Amino acid sequence: AVEIRDLHKRFGKLEVLKGIDFAVDPGQVVCVIGPSGSGKSTLLRCVNLLEQPTSGRVVVHGVELTDRDVDIDAARRGIGMVFQQFNLFPHMTVLQNVMISQRRVLKRGKAEAERIARENLDKVGIGEKCDAYPVQLSGGQQQRVAIARALAMSPALMLFDEPTSALDPELVGDVLTVMRKLAEEGMTMLVVTHEMAFARDVADRVVFMDGGVIVEDGPAEQVIGAPRHERTKTFLSRVL
Ligand code: ATP
Ligand code: MG
Repeated sequence: AVEIRDLHKRFGKLEVLKGIDFAVDPGQVVCVIGPSGSGKSTLLRCVNLLEQPTSGRVVVHGVELTDRDVDIDAARRGIGMVFQQFNLFPHMTVLQNVMISQRRVLKRGKAEAERIARENLDKVGIGEKCDAYPVQLSGGQQQRVAIARALAMSPALMLFDEPTSALDPELVGDVLTVMRKLAEEGMTMLVVTHEMAFARDVADRVVFMDGGVIVEDGPAEQVIGAPRHERTKTFLSRVL
């Protein structure tokens, strides 16, 4: 579903990604872990071209996003993204938040957009909050709305950048439960996370990044349970 070849990204003189190669197969869940500043968010943002890679190839669903002639808006439509900050529209209800892009970007009719919004809000367990405004919801509920909003666009790939990092500890579980369910349903997911238990249980593969390179990439139980590299061991000893 995703293929990344020799991806480099620099901001001025700072080289943040120094040749990244990896792939996510359809239906796979890959978790990306690593210290602050290692380039995890930049990598994710290069996958949907929120950042323009300096060089290298990014292919998503057979479409080379790094091709100059690609219709980037069309390609992006198949990729859902959930951030640490939920970025809901504060002046819109939950239902309106989940309908707006369906209407504007996919040009779905009102009835269809509403039906799909309600389906996805039910799926993330907040169907009864349709008429609430974001400020009336907990952080965990807001994040689940953000997930429903992404899912309503019928993406074939979901990117998550530390979706639980801004949440109070007691609210993290509900969001992870939704993500687990998505994974079980076969959604292809690329997830930057500090939740090692989630990575170990849910991910098919775990990628450890440090200093703009992939240090280790393997089955979750191996990378987290029996890391081969010193840098991975050091990182895990700090977070586990
Ligand atoms: P964290 O765990 O703290 O979220 P990260 O692994 O996601 O860290 P990135 O956000 O990808 O790290 O940042 C990697 C490096 O790139 C950092 O040194 C950061 O300061 C730098 N960087 C990121 N975005 C920009 C930008 N737009 N302009 C300049 N430098 C940037
Ligand atoms: Mg980050």
